[in-house]
Amino acid sequence: TLPDIPIFQSLQTHDPSSVAVVHSASTRSFTYGNLIADVLRAKDDLERKAGKKGKLAGERVAFLAENSYDYVVTLLAIFASDAIALPLSPSFPVSELQYILDNAQAKVLLSTEKYADKAGQILEAGLYQEPLFDVLRKIEVGAATESVQLDSFKQPSGGMMLYTSGTTNRPKGVLIPESALAAQASSLLQAWKYSPDDRLLHLLPLHHIHGVVNAILAPIFAGSSIEFLYPFNTEQVWRRLASPFLPENNKPSKITFLTAVPTIYNRLMSSFPSLPPDIQSAAQRGISPENLRLNISGSAALPTPTKEQWTSLSGGNVLLERFGMTEVGMAISCGLDPKDRVDGSVGWPLPGVEARLVDTDTETVIPEGQEIDLTGRVREGEIQLRGATIFKEYFGNEKATAESFVAADDGGSPWFRTGDVATREKVEEAGKGTSGEWARGPMYFIRGRKSVDIIKTGGEKVSALEVERELLSLPQIAEAAVVGLPSEQWGQKVAVVIVLRPDAASTGRNGKSWGPMDMRRALKDRLAGYKIPQEMKILDSIPRNAMGKVNKKALVKQVFGV
Ligand code: ATP
Ligand code: MG
Repeated sequence: TLPDIPIFQSLQTHDPSSVAVVHSASTRSFTYGNLIADVLRAKDDLERKAGKKGKLAGERVAFLAENSYDYVVTLLAIFASDAIALPLSPSFPVSELQYILDNAQAKVLLSTEKYADKAGQILEAGLYQEPLFDVLRKIEVGAATESVQLDSFKQPSGGMMLYTSGTTNRPKGVLIPESALAAQASSLLQAWKYSPDDRLLHLLPLHHIHGVVNAILAPIFAGSSIEFLYPFNTEQVWRRLASPFLPENNKPSKITFLTAVPTIYNRLMSSFPSLPPDIQSAAQRGISPENLRLNISGSAALPTPTKEQWTSLSGGNVLLERFGMTEVGMAISCGLDPKDRVDGSVGWPLPGVEARLVDTDTETVIPEGQEIDLTGRVREGEIQLRGATIFKEYFGNEKATAESFVAADDGGSPWFRTGDVATREKVEEAGKGTSGEWARGPMYFIRGRKSVDIIKTGGEKVSALEVERELLSLPQIAEAAVVGLPSEQWGQKVAVVIVLRPDAASTGRNGKSWGPMDMRRALKDRLAGYKIPQEMKILDSIPRNAMGKVNKKALVKQVFGV
């Protein structure tokens, strides 16, 4: 009999002949039967090469792998060895990888053939003074063996270590026990109803929670199929979405599930007009609500124009927005019922996640029903979370771990401080539908990060996200990042960095190029005066990390020199 390890228990219940992983570019598919066999083989291989069996328990096993079946096998084999999987981004420079390996005190580094050179360079740079194990240059996966010994899995002390996106600081190593990963997946299965009939198109990097938990672990728990399209290419994505709907193609496997970041949706939509007409119409069918069951956006705020354009392109498929982070997995989400996908809201706490708002002015909990104070002001609070999905610690940083939790006064487990500020509001037409019992009551609206997005100017607080939302609704603006600059007079002043749309240049007054004056005039009736940016800089592009996020501290330094 199989020990109580949720992910492997779930693997065992899937139809072994159903497809677990495919690559868009290849005709070969890997079944759940293949996956189990290959994981066991890879686990044996890993333990054999590591020397003594069991010696891997609790160790960080880092690996470099492209988005592929090999990645999935490696990840699960590390779990099966009781070790802690540390997936690395192959696109990081060697120096950054070294920082992570060093910080994580990883003693094992695996790589696929493709990244053997990179792994070699890391070793040559002399990172490991006393390596516990050798670097294993090649992950050997592939052919399935016939007989499968499921009971060789044991109770793990392992889990995963992921680094935060580094949007506000150097990335932090987050230790997520296997039990938290299982709780995260289970919560998503309840809310988003992953099923064996789903085929998820995977377009995300595999060193962040979004790509790993939402788009690999959750589908595996549910027995869904994962299709990797790698490297990301907008035209290929559209052709793939179109393919089952082209007359000449009888490939039956349509994509039913898409999860991505706002930048990906934007890039897809800007490349759409250059596709041949037959691909365009087939792709539109591919993303219509009848075919693409679920399209999700997260990791950064979803601009309303992006959401609206997608709805119109897809013939009514409304993007579902959710809020999550490395430390907690997914925490707050809109619902499956399209009425439960309200513009600007990230929804309700997911099943198994407890959330509260702590007023940023009074430091007191905002009880349900008291979201608006006596003066009519909507109260803003820090989102705090607890539940089985929460991480264990920032690796090797007890101080940061301690600072990020507050003791509960009800005797329950401590609350994790997300550092994100939100409001909560009852939305009349939402929270009544078929999304589930968890999707009831007031909805959460993200205002931004306490550290960079809540700008204090002349005693007022301004949400950078709110101002960005208004800026992005102007036809001239393609991208916007609102920041606070130091000001002697106001404490801080609101400033913005924008990217103009290609056709916007000469739409300013008197045919001149569109500038700060035009921006201020356009926002006059939309925002209170103190929220309107006092400075505006135009760039060709705004630097973003792999998840489409902007490092605002770095941007301020780069653009405004402060
Ligand atoms: P670091 O902690 O290193 O500064 P990071 O916080 O960006 O980086 P992640 O854990 O990948 O690293 O991202 C979590 C953050 O992403 C959240 O704290 C929140 O600020 C932001 N985020 C996620 N989803 C949304 C969303 N739907 N809307 C707005 N912000 C979001
Ligand atoms: Mg963070």
